[in-house]
Amino acid sequence: EVGDLARAFNQMLDELAEQRDLLRFEISERTQAQHALIESQERYRDLFDNAHDLIQSVTCDGRFEYVNAAWLRTLGYTEAEVNDLVFFDLLDPDHADSGMATFARLMRGETEGSTEVHLVSKDGRSLILEGASSASRIGESVTAARTIFRDVTAQRAHEAELVSAREAAEAATRAKSAFLANMSHELRTPMNGVIGMASILLDTPLNEEQREFVDTINVSGDTLLTLINDLLDFSKIEAGHLELERRAASPRSILEQVADMLAPAASKKGIELLIEVADDVPKSVETDEVRFRQVVTNLGSNAVKFTSQGEVMLRMTAPEPGRLAVAVVDTGIGIPLDRRDRLFKSFSQVDASTTRKFGGTGLGLAISKRLAEAFGGDVAVESEEGVGSTFTFSLAAPTLEHAPALEACKGGSLKGKRVLIVDDNATNRRILSLQVKGWNAIPVAVASADALRLVRSGSDFDVVVLDFHMPEMDGLELADVLAYEAPGLPRILLSSLQVAHSRTLGRVESALSKPVKASALCRALSQLVASGPRDLTAPHVGDGALTNAPEFDVDDAPMAPARILLVEDNKINQRVAMRLLHRMGLEADLAEDGVEALELLGETDYDIVLMDVQMPRMDGFEATKRLRARTDAHQPYVIALTANALDGDAERCTSCGMNEHVTKPVRLDTLRAALERASVQVS
Ligand code: ADP
Repeated sequence: EVGDLARAFNQMLDELAEQRDLLRFEISERTQAQHALIESQERYRDLFDNAHDLIQSVTCDGRFEYVNAAWLRTLGYTEAEVNDLVFFDLLDPDHADSGMATFARLMRGETEGSTEVHLVSKDGRSLILEGASSASRIGESVTAARTIFRDVTAQRAHEAELVSAREAAEAATRAKSAFLANMSHELRTPMNGVIGMASILLDTPLNEEQREFVDTINVSGDTLLTLINDLLDFSKIEAGHLELERRAASPRSILEQVADMLAPAASKKGIELLIEVADDVPKSVETDEVRFRQVVTNLGSNAVKFTSQGEVMLRMTAPEPGRLAVAVVDTGIGIPLDRRDRLFKSFSQVDASTTRKFGGTGLGLAISKRLAEAFGGDVAVESEEGVGSTFTFSLAAPTLEHAPALEACKGGSLKGKRVLIVDDNATNRRILSLQVKGWNAIPVAVASADALRLVRSGSDFDVVVLDFHMPEMDGLELADVLAYEAPGLPRILLSSLQVAHSRTLGRVESALSKPVKASALCRALSQLVASGPRDLTAPHVGDGALTNAPEFDVDDAPMAPARILLVEDNKINQRVAMRLLHRMGLEADLAEDGVEALELLGETDYDIVLMDVQMPRMDGFEATKRLRARTDAHQPYVIALTANALDGDAERCTSCGMNEHVTKPVRLDTLRAALERASVQVS
């Protein structure tokens, strides 16, 4: 019995011990959990107290359940004061409605992501608080709104400052552009008087000394004008106002036009000016023709300026589809290596003495480089001192596939014809041969010494192309000999503007000025191959003058008569334009403003209108628009005379129906070129 009892007792003791252990275990677990709870609460307390953000909980009656230290600091209240505060009283009266609305939404249980409230601090400042809210609930009902805010007052003020600073800057830029446009106009108007009158004065009988004075006025006027243009361009580019147009243009004719412009200066210095356009250069690309020409003109006139003997070559290639490159190669003074990096900086010249010797502003290359960048390209330079420089302008220029045929002359009739090319310059021979081959004719290119031998040996040619500048016998003399040696062989003389037109009269069948445009050469060759030698006793000055001109001295070839109306309010400009027209043997009627112009245009069918843009009563734009709107009236060719060189003028001219524009100061040759284009159109 005792044994049984003892066993039962022991078993009970074991069970008790087990339960005790279990209990112990449970107790320690609970303590641990409690510990963890306390710790986590402390952690939250820490976050709550030390947070930079403002934390608050507001009950549905607007009392503060709790706020954190940052909240107290920011709004300037003590813990005790908060107990008596009501949230609604803190709302900035100017924004109270939206604050109340937000609170109401929260209380309805609609969770609010981001919240913005304007609260007034104890010292009366209105603070902008931005944050996120959520609702505290017991069961279904919302008891309080908890929010974490950040004080964004300073940030908002800063943003507002930035906005107003930007607006101010934009206004200043607009004012600057307007100022530039006005300045450009104001400066150009008197310049028109100076340059125009000086060029007319040069044409009157003057003694040696007077001529020198007028020359100086002319040159200084030109320099001043370049400077004005450069400065305008430069500030426009700097202000980010440069916008390139995108229109169809022929790269070849851009190059040819530049060559035309450089030809007089090059010929004066006795240097060869050559152009070469690679076969793969497209006929038509999308580009800004004016700016394109500007860059090439800049590089080209530098090349001519800094070259005293040899040649300047403008070579255009298409390095890859959609891109063009124009290399301007000279045999001039070159640029020392250590000065090359300065070249493209504004107002920098390699050598301070260049200004005295060559003139210039030191802006040309800086402008060219920026323009090139705007074209998605660059201007690069390679140079060797004393040997020459090559400036390369590369640009993106998308090819236009279905371009209208820009070159009128295809040279169809030249197929298989034998063309003798006589030129002592090897580069020139190569270029001419390539062009002739392009029309499927057969070129034979020789230096002057070999020409006579070849002709005397009985070689048969359909036409001969002679260069004027040759060492032993010039092109005209050779032409005279050929007339005797090979009668019936038509001759084309390639010459510079220096050779007076009268000298060539009757001695060659056709004379073209260099650099020779492919289209002009093609036309001349086709014409001669078709017609054979002409009767040279009859003068042929006017012949083809409109297509090939200006050749030689512009005054030699009279313009076809046309009915011209000049619309201009400024007395000096009236006189300048009238004198320029007289020099071309042309007369014009005068209208003082747009209103008068429209009256005269109603009475007479004018062929050409020279239209000033800015005039009292009615400006040139308006007058042209109204003229174009007259459907029943005779429509003349309208050439705008504009003093405004800034962007947008060209578009304004075209958009109101003008055919083209000429910027003031108006020069004889530009006006003449425009009038020639006009005559081609109206005839
Ligand atoms: P500038 O109006 O003075 O010609 P640019 O910016 O066009 O100004 O040229 C800056 C300088 O670069 C020139 O003054 C000249 O010293 C040098 N330079 C430019 N092109 C050539 C060149 N083809 N050969 C030699 N030097 C050149």
